[in-house]
Amino acid sequence: MKILIIEDEEELLNSSKEYLMSEGYICEEATTFKEGIEKINLYEYDCIVADIGLPDGNGLDLVQELKSKLSETGVIIISAKNALEDKIAGLDIGADDYLTKPFHLSELNARVKSILRRRKFRGNKEIVFKEIRVFPDTFQTFANQRPVALTKKEFDLLIYFISNQNKIITKESIAEHLWGDYIDTADSYDFVYTHISNLRKKLVEQGSNDYIQTVYRVGYKFGGDEAPR
Ligand code: CA
Repeated sequence: MKILIIEDEEELLNSSKEYLMSEGYICEEATTFKEGIEKINLYEYDCIVADIGLPDGNGLDLVQELKSKLSETGVIIISAKNALEDKIAGLDIGADDYLTKPFHLSELNARVKSILRRRKFRGNKEIVFKEIRVFPDTFQTFANQRPVALTKKEFDLLIYFISNQNKIITKESIAEHLWGDYIDTADSYDFVYTHISNLRKKLVEQGSNDYIQTVYRVGYKFGGDEAPR
């Protein structure tokens, strides 16, 4: 799950980022309105946390820009204390939630989780794909009722596959999803390959069918039919 934090207060930006990363999210940052718009237009995020008061613009315009693209990205706006009008305006134009400064990082985390659950998994705490069950809140995975010990990357990958089932997913989009825009060298494709083979192995070991199909030269497809082995 990839989150973009747009915040000009360095301390708040860093603490939010560290907290959410420790919770297993990939976090990217923007410190200005301009940078925020650029990132929104270049990359896909699962959730955006946007401060309203940015030095070169209003965070609400970022929300508007995002919503005009009919994006499925969740949005949390952060407003200054007592800025009730900002909150109302933000929710009016389609933000999912808001927080008022100062806030506890655990509160931010709870809001992010709830938005992702709502947007990505239609409110379910549990994602089920045939014999595989995944619990995004607790990072647990089961295959045929047996626990599967996945790393955070493998876990993210599995959710990404399940959310995009029966679609061809390129190696590039997997790399971007797992590492954000920090890595885009050819090396990352080797990492993609490694994570996928580990994920596949762990699921199969617990009795799951192998649903990950390799699409020659392009990427992968996670499908309803069992992949030939
Ligand atoms: Ca600010």
